[in-house]
Amino acid sequence: MLNIYGLTRKQLEDYFESIGEKKFKAQQVFEWLYQKKESDFDKFSNIKKDVIEKLKNDFTNNKIKIIRKQSSTDTYKYLFELEDKNYIEAVVMVHNYGNSICVSSQVGCNMGCAFCESGRLKKVRNLETYEIVEQILLIEEDLNIRLSSVVVMGIGEPFDNYDNIINFLYIINDAKGLAIGSRHITVSTSGLVPKILEFANIPLQINLAVSLHAPYDELRSKLMPVNKAYNIDTLMNAIKEYYSKTNRRVTIEYVMLKGVNDSESDAIKLAKLLKGMNVYVNLIPYNETNHIEFKKSNKDNILKFGKILQDNNITVTIRKEYGGQIDAACGQLRSKEVE
Ligand code: SAH
Ligand code: SF4
Repeated sequence: MLNIYGLTRKQLEDYFESIGEKKFKAQQVFEWLYQKKESDFDKFSNIKKDVIEKLKNDFTNNKIKIIRKQSSTDTYKYLFELEDKNYIEAVVMVHNYGNSICVSSQVGCNMGCAFCESGRLKKVRNLETYEIVEQILLIEEDLNIRLSSVVVMGIGEPFDNYDNIINFLYIINDAKGLAIGSRHITVSTSGLVPKILEFANIPLQINLAVSLHAPYDELRSKLMPVNKAYNIDTLMNAIKEYYSKTNRRVTIEYVMLKGVNDSESDAIKLAKLLKGMNVYVNLIPYNETNHIEFKKSNKDNILKFGKILQDNNITVTIRKEYGGQIDAACGQLRSKEVE
């Protein structure tokens, strides 16, 4: 049976039409689920009893479960148990200007990036749309806060679960859904080029981030096997096409790995590669893990690397480190439970 939290408003409208009811009921259901935060169909007081019975026959309202929560100053890491006993994680960062969440998109990841914890656990399956939506709902309820921005940078490669991610984006961006502004939503991909091009065509103003991590193919292929399928040239062309269609600047993520991709000559190569492209670069301090050899670049090195990019007219930000103490860094989510 389908879970009600996995349907976009449009899909719910189609459902109501298919049972001979007015489309408008979809909006009422959305208001109950996402604004009044009511999941019990029997409490939908503006909907007729016979329609409620149909809803109960056709949909579940089951939720995934929070089974552990860890926190440090401004970061919370949640471990969720799915109905089939798989585990996923989400991280929340609380700021004075708003709260952001990093959600997972798959159980494990098949992309095999050399430095990534999430990828050590092979993909077990894609997350269903409702399992991504509910990460947000459950945490908002647990912390009694509103989450104002969302990044899809947890476990998984979102574009390897494209259709479910797109439905998730429609639901959370919907004014009658969670109403999270598209400018406050970012999807990060390791560079699945056909999906980047498809993403350029959807009518939502969602931000796109692309994990580059190396300025030349030989190194990128070592760090990210996906580069053998879509090399840097192909990826850059996709980003250019994405920009020309959407007019939205792409964020280039670059994780700083000591002695691997953080030299002056790497910075110069990266500046050359990105010259004239309308992108931002986000330098990410690497979060060291127990299982993987890579070390983080030291701070001065990161600053120097950033300065070279800036001197070449490239906009650079350096990601603040979150949650190092609780292994909660986004992109480094993997639960102790599943080791
Ligand atoms: N699969 C997608 C999104 C999830 S990973 C992607 O790869 O883009 C989100 C980001 O975290 C990616 O840029 C990823 O390279 C980075 N990342 C992975 N492991 C990390 C670690 N240990 N420290 C810092 N960033 C990491
Ligand atoms: Fe997967 Fe992203 Fe980790 Fe690569 S960095 S293994 S794509 S989660």
